[in-house]
Order: sequence, then C-alpha cells, then structure tokens
Amino acid sequence: MPNDLVSPSLEQPRPPFGEQHQRAPGLESALDPRPRYRADRYRAARKLEGKAALITGGDSGIGRAVALLYAREGANVAICYLPIEQSDAKETRTAVEAAGTKCLLIPGDLSHVGACDDAVERTVEAFGRLDILVANAAHQRRKKSLADVSDEEFDTTFKTNMYSYFWLARAALRHMQRGSAIIATSSETGIMGSKELPDYSATKGAINAFTKTLALELIDRGIRVNGVAPGPVWTPLNPSDAGLSPDKVAKFGEDNPMGRPAQPEELAPTYVFLASEADSSYITGTVIQVMGGETTGG
Ligand code: NAD
Ligand code: MG
Repeated sequence: MPNDLVSPSLEQPRPPFGEQHQRAPGLESALDPRPRYRADRYRAARKLEGKAALITGGDSGIGRAVALLYAREGANVAICYLPIEQSDAKETRTAVEAAGTKCLLIPGDLSHVGACDDAVERTVEAFGRLDILVANAAHQRRKKSLADVSDEEFDTTFKTNMYSYFWLARAALRHMQRGSAIIATSSETGIMGSKELPDYSATKGAINAFTKTLALELIDRGIRVNGVAPGPVWTPLNPSDAGLSPDKVAKFGEDNPMGRPAQPEELAPTYVFLASEADSSYITGTVIQVMGGETTGG
C-alpha cells in the first residue's frame, strides 16, 4: 500500500510518553513528543475560500490544527489565546501564513466579556467579515472531590469554557451572514461525566445544550451551530492540568479503546466539515464524537 494510505491509527504516537508537567496553560513547544498538527495526508479543496474565522485557543492543540486546515482551505484566521502563550501563537501564525492566508493574533483573557467582544470586533476590522466562530478555549483542572472545588475555581471554569462561548456567539451574530457556522469544542466528559472533573464536565454538558438550542434559533438565519466532542487529545491541556501528575501524563490516553490519545491533526478535519456548507449544510445542532472508539456516550 502506498505510504500515504496507511491508517493513521497505526502510526500515531502511543503511551507511555516521557513523564512531564507544565504550569497551566502550558506551551505546545515544551511537549514531548510535539503534537502533530500538520495533517500532511489531508487534501484541501478550497472549501473555505475567502471566509474569515475566529478560533479561540488557536495558539496550540486542537485550535492550532484547525487554524492551519482552515488556512489550507482558503480562510483568513484570527486566533485568541492568553498573553503567556505568545510564542505558540507565533508558530501558528507562521504555519497559517505559509499556507497562504492571513493570521491575526489576539492575546487576551476570554473569561471577561470585554475580551470576547473585542476579539470579534478586531476580527471583523481586520478581515471585513466573520463567517466561522470556533469556541475552543478551555480551562481544566482535576480535583479529588467536590469539596476541593472552590467558588473561585468554579467561576473560572465556567467563565472560560461556557460564558466565553455565549459572549463570543452573541457578539459574532452581530456580523454573521447566511452560510456562517458556529462550532464549539465540547468533550466526552460533557456526555459521560468524569470523576475528577465536576466543574469542567458541567461546562461541556452546558456547551452541548447551548449548541442545540442556538442551532434551532438560527435555522431561519441560515447559520449552523454544532459541536465536536473529542476523547483524549495530545495537547498542552492535560500535561498542564495541576491535578494530573507527571506519571499520569506519561500514560495519557492509554485507557481509550485505541490505547492512545488523538493527535490534533485527527480532530481538525471535523471542524472543516462542520464549517463547510458543501459538506454539512443539513447538519445543525449536533455534537460529533471524535472519541477513538469510546461508544459509551451513545
Ligand atoms: P490547548 O491547551 O492547546 O488549548 C486550550 C486553549 O485555551 C489554550 O491554548 C489557551 O489559549 C486557551 N485558554 C485557556 N484559558 C483561556 C482564557 N482565560 N482566555 C483565553 N484563552 C484561554 O488544549 P486543547 O486540548 O487543544 O483544548 C482545546 C479544546 O479541546 C478545549 O475546549 C478542551 O476542553 C477540549 N478538549 C480537549 C481534550 C484533550 O484531551 N486535550 C479532550 C476533550 C476536549
Ligand atoms: Mg495554548
């Protein structure tokens, strides 16, 4: 079989990885192995030509892989991230520009409404339009029990993961035209729950319900709203989770039916699919599971 037809699941990195840990939000450049985001075997087809996308958490992980595929499909992209992640964001910009489109960097803390409004306005100013919103930024920190979830932590998780989705969607809808798409990153934890992630899982369940509801409201405007629920993915999120020890990071994804985490490049095509009218014009209000064979969620 030609090399580029070999199943990726046979080739992607498998645990054990090296023991490692970072302080949140972590940097992709410090991960070993480096996450795969280039999707070399993906064949672009100019599906998003001339469009403009805003991707939160686009500096690293899933968001970076989505930014690059959107660029390869012809879209200009704006990415939001925390200021401390500037070096990762620059690497995303280099990859996007090499694919031939523009990349606007918007550092800021999206757990505040002003930063969300600002991100949307700056994107529209730069590109003259906004066609795709990918609400993908998240805060995640494992706790041993509910007693360890402070009010402050609960607020941070909800403000970062759920409120920002609401604030960004509300602002984006001031500009979006027919044919636009909103895509939220959910999680398998939002479908099945997760023992050490009560606040995080609750935000993901809320994201799913919000996605379905907004989808119904926007059908008449010709704007589709969908979610993606990943299983474990090799990104800075878990290696920088203060509740996950370095030895657990080394085994990350081992429990998944495929025995490994996904690489970001295995998530990104689903985000192209959901953004592209050519692919998914009859799909709205759905949450697509990209979970490596985990079927418990239905
Ligand atoms: P990641 O760390 O690369 O991306 C998360 C990004 O969120 C960070 O890069 C950061 O820029 C951004 N962020 C966090 N707090 C922010 C804030 N206050 N303001 C602005 N930006 C902020 O990790 P990832 O795994 O690619 O995460 C992307 C999405 O995927 C998240 O929604 C996450 O919940 C979801 N997800 C990840 C996994 C996994 O195993 N990695 C599994 C299921 C779902
Ligand atoms: Mg990051």
